[in-house]
Amino acid sequence: MDNQRSLLEAELLKLGFSFINKDSMTGRIPQHGDVQGTFINVEVVFDDFPIIQPRVRLVSINAQEELYNYVPQTWRHLDEFNNSLNATQSTFYICALHNWSANPARNGNFIYYRILSWLESNVSGVWNEDEDLPTRRIIPQFSNAILYLPESFLDHLKEEETKTIFSMDVSHTTYTFISGAVATKKKKGNEYDLEQIKFEKRYFFFPSVHEGNAFTHLTKMKLGTERTSSKLLIVRLPGNYVFKTFYQLLISIRMNTELLKLADKSRNFPVLVMFKGDRGRDEAIAFLASKEYLQGKSEFLVKLMKLESIAQRPVSVDLTVGLLGVGALGSQVAKILSMKETKSVLICDPDILSMENIGRHELDPIYLGLSKSLWLARELNYKSLTDTFHFVLEDEEVHEKSDILVVTVGDKQSFDKLAFKKLSGYKKPIIWAWTSPNNILQEIVITNPSTGCLNCYYATIQSDPDLLALHEQAKKEINNAVTVEFDICGNPHTTSHMEKMIFFATQIVSILNYYSKNKRFRFDYVNYYWEIDEIIPYTKVGYLETHHACTCKGDR
Ligand SMILES: [Zn+2]
Repeated sequence: MDNQRSLLEAELLKLGFSFINKDSMTGRIPQHGDVQGTFINVEVVFDDFPIIQPRVRLVSINAQEELYNYVPQTWRHLDEFNNSLNATQSTFYICALHNWSANPARNGNFIYYRILSWLESNVSGVWNEDEDLPTRRIIPQFSNAILYLPESFLDHLKEEETKTIFSMDVSHTTYTFISGAVATKKKKGNEYDLEQIKFEKRYFFFPSVHEGNAFTHLTKMKLGTERTSSKLLIVRLPGNYVFKTFYQLLISIRMNTELLKLADKSRNFPVLVMFKGDRGRDEAIAFLASKEYLQGKSEFLVKLMKLESIAQRPVSVDLTVGLLGVGALGSQVAKILSMKETKSVLICDPDILSMENIGRHELDPIYLGLSKSLWLARELNYKSLTDTFHFVLEDEEVHEKSDILVVTVGDKQSFDKLAFKKLSGYKKPIIWAWTSPNNILQEIVITNPSTGCLNCYYATIQSDPDLLALHEQAKKEINNAVTVEFDICGNPHTTSHMEKMIFFATQIVSILNYYSKNKRFRFDYVNYYWEIDEIIPYTKVGYLETHHACTCKGDR
């Protein structure tokens, strides 16, 4: 390794580089002459060479060092860093050493020619495909001031093709000053000088969106009552504005928008800007700017903010799923659906959370005595930062609005009432799921107008020899295993088989996923039989036809 490093230094010396200190060298590229009138000076920092790829800092272009202003606006694959309050203090790093590995071919010549190739590509505008890796953002995003955006917040801005500018309220962590004092939450955050604010501390910003949704809840949880409000300026730059550096962007915004109109007596403004970035993609950036910036003065302060938004993932289960029953099984189904970008989930369950549910249910003990369905819907919306889950009081409303129903109602009477009264003749598919004590036998039956009914399924068990044998074996196991004791309050003491319950929930979600994509089912029923302490269940699937012994005669 030391040998490899000595070689690197010797090669760079030969290419005209000289030492700045023991870990970095500076040199001119190309060594002699220029690339169509352009040459650059770089600093190569190789403190962890060859394990970590050397950092290549751009020092000057044609001996011009004011890069914040001088980087040509068409140049690419150049990363900017700025942790100060001054946009002219940025440093720029060349991205030319992709796919670094510590092998001997990554030597001084390699580094030199990669930088030269980078320069040639920038001057000509022509890039080799393998050097033209996608860049996520062209402007730096490292900051302790983080602006969180709700889902689809920027969507309508994207569609704007004309210059747009407006303001809205943003809630944020109350500022701490460099002096150690804390700002009063009664004043607007806009009323302080940027150089007073201690930016080593972390500040969270949340735009004020309409009340009552998951994002508003998050804002409350993250900021509590100790929050400050500021006026946030939002700017959309149309596609014809070109720039490369943060400073160039700032000047471009200022020259082309009427920012000053929105300025008042305030001393700083958070600004959110959307523009066309690398390869014409929509990008956004946020920063805090001093009033001098809005006023058009040449000396001004800015503090970059980090911008985060929820990843916009494609819908995975493109259905409105109605969940009847959200106990141990149903709440797991709901939870998995919340991680799968489901179009919409309607939840109905009249039960309240009780002590015996604790540790077997998705809800925390804080919800004891409260509606399972109402609070599960809210909790899952909060967790996924969406408004996918809806609490519904009457099950008839769920029947009507859903594309498919999942019935996991544990209570036998309620289950039968749904099966043989309320949902008889239902025209959409229903997934019925239940499990035996100790999760020894788990059953899923999918009924729809072209299959038999649940009674047909029960009759099929009696007339299908394989199915009957499976059920009789399971019954023996169930009878042997059940040792339920009750405590003084009547709570059952049973061993947890939650891993099997969660498995069962994953199977229901897989069926929903398959149906969403294929508009049909792989089978009409499935049994999972777990011998005690078994790891993989014995599985039996089949189709459900109208049974001659059933009175439904296919009319369901
Ligand atoms: Zn039937």
